Amino acid sequence: MLEGLKRAVQRLADALSGRPSWADIERALEEFRLALLQADVAYDVAGEVVEGMRAQLKQREAKGDAAELVWSAFQEYFNRAFSSVPSFDLMQEIERSPPCAILFLGVNGVGKTSAVAKLAHYLKARGKSVLLAAADTHRPGAIEQLAEHAARLGLRMISQGYNADPAAVARDAVEHARAKGYAAVLIDTAGRLQTYRGLMEEMAKIIRVARPQVKLFVCDALTGNDALRQAQDFLRYTDYNGIVLTKLDSDAKGGVALTLVKATGRPILFASLGQRYEDFRPFEPSLILERLAEVKPGA
Ligand code: GDP
Repeated sequence: MLEGLKRAVQRLADALSGRPSWADIERALEEFRLALLQADVAYDVAGEVVEGMRAQLKQREAKGDAAELVWSAFQEYFNRAFSSVPSFDLMQEIERSPPCAILFLGVNGVGKTSAVAKLAHYLKARGKSVLLAAADTHRPGAIEQLAEHAARLGLRMISQGYNADPAAVARDAVEHARAKGYAAVLIDTAGRLQTYRGLMEEMAKIIRVARPQVKLFVCDALTGNDALRQAQDFLRYTDYNGIVLTKLDSDAKGGVALTLVKATGRPILFASLGQRYEDFRPFEPSLILERLAEVKPGA
């Protein structure tokens, strides 16, 4: 799990054993930058991380254990990256103005439909009434997949079948939720259209028509470098509030979490760590940093 960043820190520890000169530290930082890339941190972000660490290290006296020194610089940088994005309290948002329409965005296969079902389960367990909306009217099987989750979770789902206008499905679902007094309506959307631009424009239209209070970008932790492009494109077209990071139980290297917060300035709100409904929880940066700490030099 998250092998890449673990390796990055370990490699850094090896490079810095003993008393380092500044030249040693520079070499180690370059080594660390390369390892961050291997851990799926996007190129530009890896450069920024190393710059930040260098600036921190320059303010300190280069004494004591070198690996400890650089590890703590990384830890500080990492924590600051996550704490400097604005927080977003979804439960508060739902209570503020029900029905709270929550739109799920992201490319095919990232775990969007599963995330809709998992968040529905999460909210239901916290006493919230949830309506589902099948606004992915393109992918064959998408509506049945969501309907199956609805049946298993004992939830109502709004659908108008395939080739219906997704914006109309979303708007009808919001109106239904308002009329029936639901706390939240969770809207699944398409992840692939004939063109990428077409997909972005369809999402922008759903937002204009259905006016969701909350927009969540779903990203697969295994995505690697392409996560940066996806996250920034969706941000430009949809201005989402937060991110759901999926498949953290897989062989994902974890660096994508750092890429996402640095590149978008949006918080990661939830983490999905498996296929079951229960494998879904509020995201904590420590989810990732804890694993790094396991290989903390000297620990
Ligand atoms: P969508 O195309 O974005 O709606 O993606 P789906 O929700 O259909 O998920 C695609 C595949 O990823 C399915 O086989 C899911 O079971 C799987 N999946 C989703 N989330 C997770 C997760 O957190 N961990 C694992 N291991 N698999 C997941």
